[in-house]
Amino acid sequence: MLYPSVIAIDGPVASGKTTVGRELARRLGYAFVDTGVYYRAITIAALDTATPLDDEAALSRLAEAMAVRIGDGGLSVLVDDVDVTSRLRAPEVDAAVSPVAKVGGVRRAMVAQQRATAEGGDVVMVGRDIGTHVLPDAAKVYLDASPEERARRRSKELAETAQARSEDEVLGNLRMRDAIDSGREDSPLRVADDALHIVTDGLEVADVVELLLGALGTKEAE
Ligand code: C5P
Repeated sequence: MLYPSVIAIDGPVASGKTTVGRELARRLGYAFVDTGVYYRAITIAALDTATPLDDEAALSRLAEAMAVRIGDGGLSVLVDDVDVTSRLRAPEVDAAVSPVAKVGGVRRAMVAQQRATAEGGDVVMVGRDIGTHVLPDAAKVYLDASPEERARRRSKELAETAQARSEDEVLGNLRMRDAIDSGREDSPLRVADDALHIVTDGLEVADVVELLLGALGTKEAE
């Protein structure tokens, strides 16, 4: 089978993008890039430097000056060589990341870094605006699931880490982030016209990966 060299997976909070994208990349022997970590990394830098979250000019300057490096195939994240991996999913980052990510200057700086990362191809990149804005020529997938299902999954994932939170708490945060991500002016979350749109309620990760491999692959010419 032949597969597109660049695959974009978008969708709302905890729709399974990262788990599915990572497994799809492993199966294809591609690199995996989770673009959410770029916005989480700049949010950590903003919190650490006490940059006010409504100061768009200061946030943009911070993002322009900062180099985000993804190590270990996406499992570690360095900001200007400082490892911030263990803090990426802390509650204060979950609360602040969408307000930071809606700033145009922040997005421009992060998108430039993401495009550079995808340049060589053979990559699965996941986020909110990858198919619609960052890599418009990619093969596009949009993953979705009901808010309740997404809250259940994320709260189960977090229970295995130091960041355990109740389903209700997770549901509140994901509704807030979805509203900001879909309502922002600059590259909002939406389904691209030519995306493969999959609702994953009731599906296992392995089912979704098989479905994608089937839909994205084309038979080689004989
Ligand atoms: O995917 P994750 O939940 O880690 O993303 C964190 C936040 O980063 C999202 O809620 C969104 O505000 C922002 N984001 C974005 N564009 C992307 C990826 C993430 O705006 N491509």
